[in-house]
Amino acid sequence: MRKLIAGNWKMNGLKRDLEEIAQLAESNVQNCDVLICPPFTLLPLCIEGFATSGIKFGGQDCHAQASGAFTGEISAQMLKDIGAGYVINGHSERRHYHQETNGQVRAKAEAAISAGLIPIVCVGEVLAEREAGQAQDIVEQQVRGSVPQAGEVVVAYEPVWAIGTGLTASSDDIAAMHTHIRKILKSMRPDASAIRLLYGGSVKGTNAPEILSCENVNGALVGGASLKAKDFLEIIGAA
Ligand code: PEP
Repeated sequence: MRKLIAGNWKMNGLKRDLEEIAQLAESNVQNCDVLICPPFTLLPLCIEGFATSGIKFGGQDCHAQASGAFTGEISAQMLKDIGAGYVINGHSERRHYHQETNGQVRAKAEAAISAGLIPIVCVGEVLAEREAGQAQDIVEQQVRGSVPQAGEVVVAYEPVWAIGTGLTASSDDIAAMHTHIRKILKSMRPDASAIRLLYGGSVKGTNAPEILSCENVNGALVGGASLKAKDFLEIIGAA
C-alpha cells in the first residue's frame, strides 16, 4: 500500500511559514503521498499556492453539520469548497480539550465523507490505560465508536502518551496495535484491508525507518516534526 505521510501543524504557522511548504514542493516527493493539515487560516493559501505540487492539504477538524448557527466552527462542506482533500477527526487534543466523544467523532467523520473528504480518524490510549493493560480494549472501543462503517477513511493510532513527548511505542507494540486495529476494521467493513493505518506520536527522522517498517503501518501522522520541511523530508525519505 502506498504510504501517507501526514503533517498536523496544530495551532502553529503564520504566512511566513509557507516557506516550509515551498521547500517541500521543491523536493517533488514521489515515493509516498504527502499531506499537510495547516491551521484554517493558511489552508486556502496552501491550496491555491501549491496547487501543482502534488502535496495534499486538509483541515484539523470539522463540524458534523453542513452549516448553521455554530459560531467559530468550520464544516466539512466548507473545507471541500476551498479544495481540501482530508480532515483530521478526533485528534486526542480535540478529545481532551473539547471533550469530543466517539459518537461525535464518528458524526464528524461521516460529515467529512458526505462532503467528499477523507477523514483521518484518530484513536489512542492514555498512559494510565496502557499501564492498566487496557490499551487494546480502549482502542477497540474508539475504533468501533468513531470510525464510519462505509466511505474512504484513514485511521491514525496515536498513543496519547507519545504525542509531543519524545516517547514512542516500541515496534512490537505498534505492530500489535495496528494488527489489532486491522482485525477490528475487518469485522466492521469489507474494505478493511485497503484502509491506511497511520502511526503518530513523536515520529521523527531517526525513528521513522523502524516505525514505518512495522507490520500494518501504512504511514505516519506527524506533529512537531512536520513544521520544518527539513525534518518532515527526513520522515518522507524513510517512507
Ligand atoms: C500529533 O499531534 O498528531 C502528533 C503525533 O504530534 P507529535 O508528532 O509532535 O508527537
